[in-house]
Amino acid sequence: MQVKVFSKRLPVEPIISVLICLSIALWATHVVLQKKQWTALKNYSDYALNYASGVTADLKTGVVSAQSSPYTACSHNDLELLRDLLWQHKYLKDIGHVQNGNLICSAERGVLKEAVALPPADAVLNNGVSFWRNSSALIRTHFEMDMTLTGSVLAITSPFAFDAIRYPDPTVSAIIYSKNNRYVFKTFGFNQQRDLAPSAKMTSAPLSYASCSEVNVCVMGERDRAGIFSLSFSQLLILVFASCLSGFGLYSLVHKARKHRHSMVYHLKNAITKDEFSIVFQPKIRLSDSMPVGVEALVRWDSHALGVVRPDVFIEVAEKYGLIRKITHRVIDLSMAQMQTTLDAKPDFTLSINLSIQDLTDLSLLPFILAKAKQYKIQHEQLVFEITERSAGDSVSLSDIVKQYTEADISISLDDFGTGYSNLAWLGHLNASEIKVDKSFTQSIGTDSINQTMLDAIFSLLQRLNVVRVFEGVETQEQADYILKYCPQAIVQGWLYAKPMPIDQLQSYLSQTTNGLGR
Ligand code: C2E
Ligand code: CA
Ligand code: CA
Repeated sequence: MQVKVFSKRLPVEPIISVLICLSIALWATHVVLQKKQWTALKNYSDYALNYASGVTADLKTGVVSAQSSPYTACSHNDLELLRDLLWQHKYLKDIGHVQNGNLICSAERGVLKEAVALPPADAVLNNGVSFWRNSSALIRTHFEMDMTLTGSVLAITSPFAFDAIRYPDPTVSAIIYSKNNRYVFKTFGFNQQRDLAPSAKMTSAPLSYASCSEVNVCVMGERDRAGIFSLSFSQLLILVFASCLSGFGLYSLVHKARKHRHSMVYHLKNAITKDEFSIVFQPKIRLSDSMPVGVEALVRWDSHALGVVRPDVFIEVAEKYGLIRKITHRVIDLSMAQMQTTLDAKPDFTLSINLSIQDLTDLSLLPFILAKAKQYKIQHEQLVFEITERSAGDSVSLSDIVKQYTEADISISLDDFGTGYSNLAWLGHLNASEIKVDKSFTQSIGTDSINQTMLDAIFSLLQRLNVVRVFEGVETQEQADYILKYCPQAIVQGWLYAKPMPIDQLQSYLSQTTNGLGR
């Protein structure tokens, strides 16, 4: 019996994008939640401190009033005064006098028949005040109350005094403590069992905030779960699910874009064999007399599968996937064939063809151009090859290649001048006979953009160069007037004069313009 082993490939990319989205979502939620929770904790702690200070102040004034009673302790008048204090101080549950460690009378209970001994204090504060926390020693109820003994006055705090501080969220706690010895007066929430308040640095809670009032009372708010750790299981599940979903969505988008790119390569290869390319020609106009002096050949691809694809899109793909050389050969052949009669009739008329850097380094290209020029009987002087640097090329090695073209009387034009990596460096190294100023500069004429300043600089630079100066992308009369003023010898190209057109339209355009019927 044969055992088949199935090897399944793990879908690594979707998993990675899901994981990335998940980590970003978890991290972002964690940070945002933590920030929100910290602000809430701070607000709560400030409120609690304010409230606790109010309670403390209220109890203190009650005690001071009792201490300054003009009557004999536990006398009828003194007890009346103490009872009045209960009405005046809402956080005071009872107040009385202590003698030799025994409570002898209080506002609520009057003079005790039998004095009640006080248990040992939980803490003696720096100011000499003894403090009992949650004591039920004096009153036999299930209520636990806080007591302070200041001198001989015992004050019992109302068990409901701090109710307003309780926080509805069980993950939040607060400790009210004295600043000097960090003795804990009161705790709320999960932090019930503490005698000594931790300092802000010592707390183990992931989020904490402490502040103190002028009366040395401090409040520290703590959160035992913060950020995503405070989310419920179902909330966490929704978050994980949503981020996985968006991670997968993102992956599908990227995958689709990549597939489209790959399909473009596939269809571009087909287009080369099925010859789906055509050429349009855009006239180049001498600005001084508006006469056409040449054309630029621009490739067009009307794909059976993809429809019309813009040249700047597919040329880039062709360059990347090594298909550009075949396209360039086709463009050269087609444009020379179509322009043959026009070039023959007008010996000064030029044909410009775009080349990629890869074309320039293709040693078979120049022989191909020369062969085609011979085949279509085109003079070398009528040919211009436009080069543009989409990537930083080695201008020194290119200069040798450019030299071979110029030695064959073929002109080289620096396309898109003013953009890219090193046009000025190129100018120095390449012996170009023409410069084409990029349309972004032309179109900055008459605008306030920074390019206007650069344009002025480029104009003065161009004035000093002994090359043909072409301005592309001329769309308005204002741009044409500006160029004419600063560069009267300029050649222009743009929609103001003519859009790229097929050869038959070009021929009727040329016959009109040369007969004085031009624009
Ligand atoms: P490019 O060489 O700078 O060509 C000029 C582009 O500007 C052309 O776009 C042209 O249609 C457009 N244009 C002309 N006048 C105006 C105007 O007044 N305003 C505006 N906004 N645009 C104007 P196109 O034909 O889409 O070509 C885009 C780019 O594709 C070309 O830029 C060139 O880099 C590349 N390309 C086109 N054909 C070829 C080719 O045969 N070979 C190579 N290697 N690249 C080509
Ligand atoms: Ca060009
Ligand atoms: Ca250009």
